[in-house]
Amino acid sequence: MSFDYDLFVIGGGSGGVRAARVAAGDTGAKVALAEEDRYGGTCVIRGCVPKKLMVFASEYADMVGDAQAYGWDIKAGAFNWGHFRGKMHAELDRLEGIYRNILKNNGVESFDARAKLVDAHTVELSDGTRKTAKHILIATGGHPVKPDIPGAELAITSNEIFHLETLPKTMLIVGGGYIASEFAGIMNGLGVKTTQFYRGAQILRGFDDEARGLVCEEMCQAGIDVHLGTNVLEMRKEGDQIWVKATNGEERLFDHVMFATGRAPNADDLGLEALGIERGRKGEILVDDYSQTGVPSVFAIGDVTDRVNLTPVAIREGMAFVETVFKGNPTKPDHELIPTAIFTQPEMGTVGLSEEDAAEQEPIDVYSTSFKPMQQAFAGRAQRVLMKLVVSKASRKVLGCHIVAPGAGEMIQLAGIAVKMGATKEDFDRTVAVHPTMSEELVTMKTPVRSA
Ligand SMILES: Cc1cc2nc3c(=O)[nH]c(=O)nc-3n(C[C@H](O)[C@H](O)[C@H](O)COP(=O)(O)OP(=O)(O)OC[C@H]3O[C@@H](n4cnc5c(N)ncnc54)[C@H](O)[C@@H]3O)c2cc1C
Repeated sequence: MSFDYDLFVIGGGSGGVRAARVAAGDTGAKVALAEEDRYGGTCVIRGCVPKKLMVFASEYADMVGDAQAYGWDIKAGAFNWGHFRGKMHAELDRLEGIYRNILKNNGVESFDARAKLVDAHTVELSDGTRKTAKHILIATGGHPVKPDIPGAELAITSNEIFHLETLPKTMLIVGGGYIASEFAGIMNGLGVKTTQFYRGAQILRGFDDEARGLVCEEMCQAGIDVHLGTNVLEMRKEGDQIWVKATNGEERLFDHVMFATGRAPNADDLGLEALGIERGRKGEILVDDYSQTGVPSVFAIGDVTDRVNLTPVAIREGMAFVETVFKGNPTKPDHELIPTAIFTQPEMGTVGLSEEDAAEQEPIDVYSTSFKPMQQAFAGRAQRVLMKLVVSKASRKVLGCHIVAPGAGEMIQLAGIAVKMGATKEDFDRTVAVHPTMSEELVTMKTPVRSA
């Protein structure tokens, strides 16, 4: 049977672009890709990249104060959102161009269209044309969802925050995950009076308790009004503002409300049901260890499969798919010991098990130290950092490493290599400290603070 293409990829985000590029570029496969919106997907257009630029922008406020403490005769001026937003979007346009060119330069034919499946080897584009392919890869990502409460339409999500006309004076951020907590820090740093509601007992659920506790404490110290155990009941427009009634009985007005209360896979209206492709409880596409759906010619990777929703993971899944299907080398994407950063202020870097999860698994020793870092302490800031290792009593392997500190994302990338290699506490100990740094504490902690 002959097909138009060897591979048709639906979705031009992190996972889809990488799979298409590698399949076409490395193996000479005939590849096409459809993208209904902008190339680069969530990460480049409305996720990691613009978010990190906003984190950078928001951190300068404190730097001016620190510089003064170090003797610099400088004064903080006002933050110009319009100037920054223009530059940020110009940068995103540039990156989108790069993604388009990557596809073109590797011989991938791209269609600016929505695509859906018609049968196991056919996709239909939004203009009605149909294309056939030996393999179809679904990499359609996800989207933010708002809770079903009165007035929810008045709120924005992370999709809209990058396009605000003006910066609000006051903002409520609802949610306790990494996106909500990161934007609380960003907005606060940019001078917006920021409130965060989270219905749970502590933000950043699933991460190490001690680490997330410190992040929350520092966020409050920095001026964010964090309300735990609190959710929004209803909202309505009141003049230019939004009236919010909270579950704690409070009624307050905000210029903007942002929901960061969850994301759902983009798997509706893709024609999956007709093909019998199964979906999970959250609507995600169910795949096996090789990202294959129940229909052998159809694979799915990235956020639409809701495994580990991070850009480098979508990319790894895309590359493993190409290895398996186009290079004859069956490869499972590795979801173990993924280092990751949360760009809150302070930042958190983490790899492996939290103290709580490790303690459920086996007896552990916990090495942990919290202190005021030299650079900020000199400037008179009370900020604290945390360096923590969770160690197996039996094997002495480091099961988890958790860092809360400026630059924690950069540190955990490197600590992640050691943990992935199976380093023991003694391997950390025989590594000479880099002095004076914050992370030297990771190799100088002598006695466990507790065992469990
Ligand atoms: C605010 C925010 C911050 C984030 N920060 C980080 C971070 O710091 N680090 C990190 O690792 N991850 C981060 N992420 C997560 C990361 O962005 C995603 O995990 C990653 O983009 C998933 O890649 P993907 O290829 O699965 O999907 P996406 O990148 O979402 O790409 C899917 C693409 O498919 C297109 N599409 C959908 N349906 C169709 C269709 N039917 N036809 C054609 N095209 C279609 C979409 O338009 C989209 O471009 C963040 C996410 C958000 C929302």
